[in-house]
Amino acid sequence: MSLDWTNAQAPTAEARIDRAGGRVSVDDKAMINCRADVNQLLPLKYKWAWEKYLAGCNNHWMPTEVSMQADIALWKSKDGLTKDERHTIKRNLGFFAASESLVANNIVLAIYRHLTNPECRQYLLRQAFEEAVHTHTFQYIVESLGLDEGELFNMYREVPSITDKAAWALDFTQHLDDPDFTTGTPEADRAFVRDLIAFYVIFEGMWFYTGFAQILSLGRRNKMVGIAEQYQYILRDESIHLNFGIDVINQIKAENPHVWIPEFQEEVRSMIRRAAELETAYGRDTMPRGFLGLNAALCEQYMHFIANRRCAQLGLAPVFPETENPFPWMSEAMDLKKEKNFFETRVIEYQNGGALSWD
Ligand code: FE
Ligand code: MN
Repeated sequence: MSLDWTNAQAPTAEARIDRAGGRVSVDDKAMINCRADVNQLLPLKYKWAWEKYLAGCNNHWMPTEVSMQADIALWKSKDGLTKDERHTIKRNLGFFAASESLVANNIVLAIYRHLTNPECRQYLLRQAFEEAVHTHTFQYIVESLGLDEGELFNMYREVPSITDKAAWALDFTQHLDDPDFTTGTPEADRAFVRDLIAFYVIFEGMWFYTGFAQILSLGRRNKMVGIAEQYQYILRDESIHLNFGIDVINQIKAENPHVWIPEFQEEVRSMIRRAAELETAYGRDTMPRGFLGLNAALCEQYMHFIANRRCAQLGLAPVFPETENPFPWMSEAMDLKKEKNFFETRVIEYQNGGALSWD
């Protein structure tokens, strides 16, 4: 591999040591296209990024700490679950099993290189590990329930409503994964923000949420309680991922007004609208008939509610008519302080919970 050191865009300070460079001050730091040494965490400029790193560390958990006994008994029983419930559970697990890897790969292969700030990268390293824990969760579920691993881990290739979502997202990773891609022009900076929106706002911030609602709704009826507990922990992690992503995008917007032009804002709104359509198709496919408390129409309404909420978080006008949240209990599911906890000896509350918004 040869590196072209004369290319002004090429080596950031991680690739070489600039012996003549001065010490980094807060004012030298920037989210993207930063010329300052990226190996100096301190002084912190973006305290919100560091706080999310600490919040992630304070919420450490492992899937194997959750007992699967009740789930195994229910899964093996003849009539504990309806055919429709089994279908939803399998498609749900199949969606998440590969999706956690797609998100992890996007962080490591696409985002990390271009986000030129050490405190944000510190968070990305923590998030990458959490995605590994999430993928581990699906390995543990497959092993515990004796599911067909090939069927589950290939659903993102074989089940059209899941493939459509994965393919939509992978295009964004592929664009940034190109070794020749660098930020530094308005078009390239926008391409980077597009990827951040595709993954943080849409993949993790919209698509994961219907998946959580499906399993947590079963958990509320005392079905698959082990998986539901694991999903609560994943949801808690994901709500930090989402809020980190929103902060990153809004900070890049503030520092690079050329990115957030009206045409691009419209493009983002149509991405969010398209993502909600893909999710509606997935909802019909995973819940062709629905079951107690949950069906495709409610999931579509929930997606419209969430889509509008994400628009507001990005400072955009809503994309759907105003609608009520059909699953108000989802916000309680995120607040684990109310739940009995299996690791009471650990710190489980957010130190900075008050500073973050939990949806
Ligand atoms: Fe995850
Ligand atoms: Mn995530």
